[in-house]
Amino acid sequence: MLNLIIFGAPGAGKGTQAQKLTEKFNLKHLSTGALLREEVAKESQLGKIVKDVIARGELVGDEIVNQIIEDHILKNGNVAGFIFDGYPRNLQQAKQLDSLLAAKALPLILNLEVNVEELIKRLILRGRESNRVDDNEVVIRNRLNVYEQQTKPLLDFYQAQQRLISVDGEGEIEEIHQRLVQKIKEIKQ
Ligand code: AMP
Repeated sequence: MLNLIIFGAPGAGKGTQAQKLTEKFNLKHLSTGALLREEVAKESQLGKIVKDVIARGELVGDEIVNQIIEDHILKNGNVAGFIFDGYPRNLQQAKQLDSLLAAKALPLILNLEVNVEELIKRLILRGRESNRVDDNEVVIRNRLNVYEQQTKPLLDFYQAQQRLISVDGEGEIEEIHQRLVQKIKEIKQ
């Protein structure tokens, strides 16, 4: 089994690259952000709880996202592997994910490195093209702060366990995809 975490700041290209890797390696793509937005769109009980948190760019409670991930791992018992996108976002979530996958294969981390000016540029552009409520300048800055404070420290956690692979996340989408594919092929050998 090949389990991967696509990691990086908001706007680093995680969703785009996860989608391409999913097709290439026949993985199951699990994006907590997308799953939460579906709940908001459905106006489910959960959707109502998380709606404002997402709109502010804060993190939804660990229990909620951990439960979503556990449900989807259990529901997809026969896949070749998972690619986690937007999860984990803090140490508690990272440890939870390891315990869920301990009997299968611990995930490796693919970290997309993109400088902050480029991130802001991409997110503002995406905000114009999509209808994401959190892609406006004020919330973008908050999401980048949340990333710096709560999520980025995970790089040390994974580095210490030699599970971190960093890739230059700037350039053409296809070019970045090929960098990731190259790294994954090296791992699989
Ligand atoms: P994303 O699509 O990954 O940028 O996520 C959009 C929003 O969903 C985030 O700003 C959070 O409010 C929420 N979210 C997504 N994944 C998580 C997570 N793992 N933990 C907490 N909140 C999350």
